Amino acid sequence: MEDQCPCGRKKQLSECCLPLIKEKKIALTAEDLMRSRYTAYTLAEIDYIMKTHHSSSRPLSEYMEIKKWAKRVKWLKLEVLNTKDGLENDEEGFVEFKAHFKELFKKKIIHENSYFVKENGEWFYVSGTHN
Ligand SMILES: [Zn+2]
Repeated sequence: MEDQCPCGRKKQLSECCLPLIKEKKIALTAEDLMRSRYTAYTLAEIDYIMKTHHSSSRPLSEYMEIKKWAKRVKWLKLEVLNTKDGLENDEEGFVEFKAHFKELFKKKIIHENSYFVKENGEWFYVSGTHN
């Protein structure tokens, strides 16, 4: 399927992460937000990366650098390994994932346990610890 969502769910992009990235819907769970952020990286939609990054740690000064990097790498796939809380009625949650990509012809993996909080009904990425 050509326009299957990059986040790995067996849904079309237009019915999965795109409505979140285009701000037509909000993420109900921390995992939904995490997946949509991965998809936003694959589309180099860095405005969305910034918007969904908690204001306490939002890396605004790195905007262009992140955009260039996101365009330069070839995004291969996302694996969500584990989630803790982060559901509709939670206020915080964790998502452990592996993001696979290729940079300068080398395969790389970001393995991270991300921390998310909900503020005024919306999920935000706060920080991550790397394995
Ligand atoms: Zn998706």
